[in-house]
Amino acid sequence: MGETCATAYLVRWLDTMFQIEGESIYGDIMERTIYNGLFAAQSPDGRRLRYYAPFEGPRVYFDGDTYCCPCNFRRIIAELPGMIYYHRNEGLAINMYARSSATLNLKKGLSLEVHQATDYPNSGNVVIHLKPSKPTRFPLYLRIPRWCEKANITINGDTTKMTAGGGSFFMVSRKWKAGDEVRLQMPMSLRLVKGRKSQAGRVAVMRGPMLFCLNPERQKDFDPEIMRLMWLDPSSLKLSGKDDSIRPNGLTCEAKFWNPNNYNAAGKANIKLILTEYADPGCKATYFLVPNPKADALTDDELIGFGI
Ligand SMILES: [Zn+2]
Repeated sequence: MGETCATAYLVRWLDTMFQIEGESIYGDIMERTIYNGLFAAQSPDGRRLRYYAPFEGPRVYFDGDTYCCPCNFRRIIAELPGMIYYHRNEGLAINMYARSSATLNLKKGLSLEVHQATDYPNSGNVVIHLKPSKPTRFPLYLRIPRWCEKANITINGDTTKMTAGGGSFFMVSRKWKAGDEVRLQMPMSLRLVKGRKSQAGRVAVMRGPMLFCLNPERQKDFDPEIMRLMWLDPSSLKLSGKDDSIRPNGLTCEAKFWNPNNYNAAGKANIKLILTEYADPGCKATYFLVPNPKADALTDDELIGFGI
């Protein structure tokens, strides 16, 4: 939650640590940082940049381009394509899932073309095509994010599915040939992540690497004065329609809240609100009260506790 420059340098630091240590946690933090803090720094039309994208309160743009963050933001965006594919043990490690293609020299006399087709982060379905310059054995590493409980992997439509848990790289070493296809499926569902420190007792709404927020101006007949005091009903959360106002095919979700002025735990939560992606420039709230913040249905933040 530092300034946009700090976000840009965090991503660069994660890239360097990933190259030195190879741990998937760096990629996990990287994707959360990019899809939320970094993209929230930019206006949806791409023209303006801001210093902070806070969890709460107004978001303000710079009034020009001659500041540190606008320049640094454009630089880090240009660097992102270099953080998708990495060399590892004379093979290929895929760190970020994004529609892309690349050509790498794995070792002397062996080049590899790789192509990814995916709508990530709308879903965790990724199709990877490999085209080595000649049939060769080498390892392929796929980062399985910590938010993913169980990923399914199939190669060339094999009926024997392989599975992998989140929090490590799934590695498959075999003799790859041109035309090989790897399908990776990482089921995504909405989850409520327990807040910490000043957000203790509240939850954030996440799906995959994406964080959702509340923009009071998008709600009908809504009094923003009660925003910090409403209780979210965890059982009411569901995905709603697509929304192009922040990015093409962006996601929204729907949640019901209890009005604090006539809260009745036995009664139904009856304020229905639409939550939008964190890059929404009108975001004013990210953490919400829940009636029972210790309930099993809430999850701990999967990126906390790795000594980083
Ligand atoms: Zn700056």
